[in-house]
Amino acid sequence: MPFSYPMNRHTRRHGPAGYSSYASYRPWLRDEFLFRCVYCLKREQWDIVIKGKYHIDHYRPQVHNPGDVLQYENLLYACATCNLAKGKELIPNPCHYMLANSVIIFEDGRIKGTTSEAKRVIKVLGLDDTEYCEFRRLTIDTIALARQMKPDLFRRYMQYPDELPNLADLRPPDNIRPEGVQESYYAQRERRQLPAVY
Ligand SMILES: [Zn+2]
Repeated sequence: MPFSYPMNRHTRRHGPAGYSSYASYRPWLRDEFLFRCVYCLKREQWDIVIKGKYHIDHYRPQVHNPGDVLQYENLLYACATCNLAKGKELIPNPCHYMLANSVIIFEDGRIKGTTSEAKRVIKVLGLDDTEYCEFRRLTIDTIALARQMKPDLFRRYMQYPDELPNLADLRPPDNIRPEGVQESYYAQRERRQLPAVY
């Protein structure tokens, strides 16, 4: 299922700190959030030319909390559409509330939140707008068809990006969770432990 929200609250695997620019956190955030938008689950792999299409979202908006701008825990990975829709709103944390038991995705692309927090995220971002529902329906139908008829196409839709960040090569000024580097998807691929699809 291409739109499977996480089963559990997100616990950070990485903890880089001390960069002077929040853009430096991008490779960590890509790995942290599985190369997809934390709100709508759109994957980089479905939109190969990603330059500028995925943003670093400040969970607590920069205008209200300038001191949090460089805090890794305050940064999320989001597609441009979701990030722009969120704007300066303070909404429930998607890491805690956009979960499998709180968000239902129907086969026809509709979305429904089952908790007040998930409903609020869906409403503020417009995840139940016609365009988002149509995007999900097209993606679900295409991937289901590929699964039946063209296994290679299915794999290309559902695989990890070819270009995975090698976090071991990065040198953040500090890292409070250095053990996460060994669990990065690049490191898993090096060990030949990376699943073909996710
Ligand atoms: Zn999104």
